[in-house]
This record gives sequence, C-alpha cells and structure tokens, in this order.
Amino acid sequence: MKKHNFNAGPSILPREVIEKTAQAILDYNGSGLSLMEISHRAKDFQPVVDEARALFKELLGIPDGYSVLFLGGGASLEFCMVPYNFLEHKAAYLNTGTWAKKAMKEAKGFGEVVEVASSAEDNYTYIPKGYTVPADADYFHITTNNTIFGTELRKDPDVNVPLVGDMSSDIFSRPVDVSKYICIYGGAQKNLAPAGVTFVIVKDDALGKVSRQIPTMLNYKTHVDAGSMFNTPPVVPIYAALQTLRWLKAQGGIPEMERRAIERADMLYAEIDRNKLFQGTAAAEDRSRMNICFVMSPEYRELEADFLQFATSRGMVGIKGHRSVGGFRASCYNAMPRESVQALIDCMRDYERQH
Ligand SMILES: *Cc1c(COP(=O)(O)O)cnc(C)c1O
Repeated sequence: MKKHNFNAGPSILPREVIEKTAQAILDYNGSGLSLMEISHRAKDFQPVVDEARALFKELLGIPDGYSVLFLGGGASLEFCMVPYNFLEHKAAYLNTGTWAKKAMKEAKGFGEVVEVASSAEDNYTYIPKGYTVPADADYFHITTNNTIFGTELRKDPDVNVPLVGDMSSDIFSRPVDVSKYICIYGGAQKNLAPAGVTFVIVKDDALGKVSRQIPTMLNYKTHVDAGSMFNTPPVVPIYAALQTLRWLKAQGGIPEMERRAIERADMLYAEIDRNKLFQGTAAAEDRSRMNICFVMSPEYRELEADFLQFATSRGMVGIKGHRSVGGFRASCYNAMPRESVQALIDCMRDYERQH
C-alpha cells in the first residue's frame, strides 16, 4: 500500500533526493568510496558545500553581506547561539509556541529578554498582533512557523529593530525579505534534509558587536571564516540538502513551492471546514500551510482513536497531533505531493459517510 508521509519532522523528502543520496553512500562520484568514507576536505566534497551555499543564496534571494552556514546542533543550539552572538543588552521575543518559548528561555542567561506578546493563554492558537517592540532591543526573535500549533507568520514583520527568525519548518515555502534579518536559522529535518545539519544565514556586519567572550564553536564568526569547515560538518545531510536545493530549483524555486503550499493548504482546510466530523484548531487568518492541525468536532470526539486507525489503515502516516494540541496534524512540507493531500481528504470524506 502506498504510504502518505505526513510526519512533522524528520519528514518527507523528494524521492530523487533519497535515491541520489543513497547512490552517493554506495559509491561517491564513481570513486569506489562511500560518501561516508571520504574527508570533508576532499577535493570533490568542497564543491557540494559551495553549491549548496550558492543555491541557498540564489533561491532565497539573499543579498550580499550575508553568509550561509551548515552546522551541527539543531535549531535548539541556535536558541543559545543567537543570544550568545547578538544579545548585548536587550532582546525582544514573540512567544508563539513551544519552540519560541524555548528560544526565549535560552536568551535569558545573556541579558534582558522582553516577551513583546504571547498567545500562551489561548494554547497558541493564533499569532499575536498589535505589539510594540522596544526600539533599543538588539533584535526581535520570531518563529515564522509554529510546527506544533499550526500557526504561521507569513509576512516578515515591519519593526524598527533587526529580525532573527527560526524558519525550521517553513524555509523555502514562501518568499523572505532576508534584508530585514540579521539571522535566519533552522534544523534541516523539516523541509530540507535528514536530521543532522542546521542552516544559518547570518549578516556578516552584525557579528562581533557583543562584548562577551564567545566559545569558539558557538561563535558564528568561526564558521563564517572557515566556510562551515572549521570542524567536520555533517557531510551526508549536507549532500542530501544539496540534492533538495537542486530539486527545488528544477521545480521552479520558491514561487512554485509557495503555489503548491497554498494549493495543498486550501484543499485540506476546505475539507476540515466542510466536514462535520472535524474542526481546525488555529485562528483562520494565522493557519499554517506547513502544519495543518485539526481535531474531531466536540460531538464526535470519542471517534478520535478510531479515525486515526482508519486513516492509518489507508496509508496515512504521522497524522497524530502533538500531545499539546491533540487530534491530528498533517504536515505538508515542500516535498508533499498534492495526491497525498487528496488521499487524506478522501479518507476524511469516506469516514464521514460512515458516521
Ligand atoms: C523542530 C523545530 C525545532 C527544533 O529543531 P531541532 O533541530 O530538533 O533542535 C525548533 N524550531 C522549530 C520551529 C521546529 O519546528
């Protein structure tokens, strides 16, 4: 039976990315060696990093004066590296969910942290609006897509301080005005590559401004200067990321990814709103295109486990909601085909007919 992979992360990747990476693991460029057996400083690996970096810049339209880094540690390590490198006195954070809160917690050890707004009191079902960011903040941190709660901030906010964005789960799904940011980061395992590599886009002239001593490995400057090769980078995930970036470009880049994301999200939210058994959890205007969260309508709540079983028996994978929301979450990252979304919708319709 065909599986429809709605996993929240690690998650779906284009089939050809997996095949090309598998081939390179067996025999890298006809060398008779595996990608896992060669030095990261080998002549034929450096071009992988160079091309991945160049494609990042091209696809996102990153202006001059920014560096693209491929590091280890996950987005969670960036929660600490960001304040280490950028927080001198005060930083502002928008509390839109579990990940935003974790980022904020790490920053508290480095200076004053201002939570400008929060939707915690409503279990993060919406993105706060109408807040004021202190003009003397070193940066304003946002989580552009809230993977767990299914809300998304699709427009780069207009504020008078530089932005820092956690884009782990929506990178390459919409255009970004990178010039508003001093740093954009994310774990690759939602939309780009297998787990193990973290992408960081950093504005070069925003570095070196804090007075504290930064440990070598946690200093962005180390990795900018060494071209992500200060120590051994995650070679296999970077190779896979390059294959995804090539795939993205061949498919039509961000405009096409955004078109597909809108199409998938419109299809699925329309069914959630139409089907009497289900209802969405996020405020309509803040609904994520990447993580689509829904629950059983109150009068059908006892059917939750049964629907999960029904959907699983029809090949749906990973649709159980996060424990902090309950119900269901269909993660529809860039590689998600329209057919899989249609299969989930068919499932919801057939189940409705039975009840
Ligand atoms: C998954 C996720 C993280 C955590 O990423 P790790 O790479 O596991 O540390 C952080 N932020 C967001 C928005 C995420 O979706």
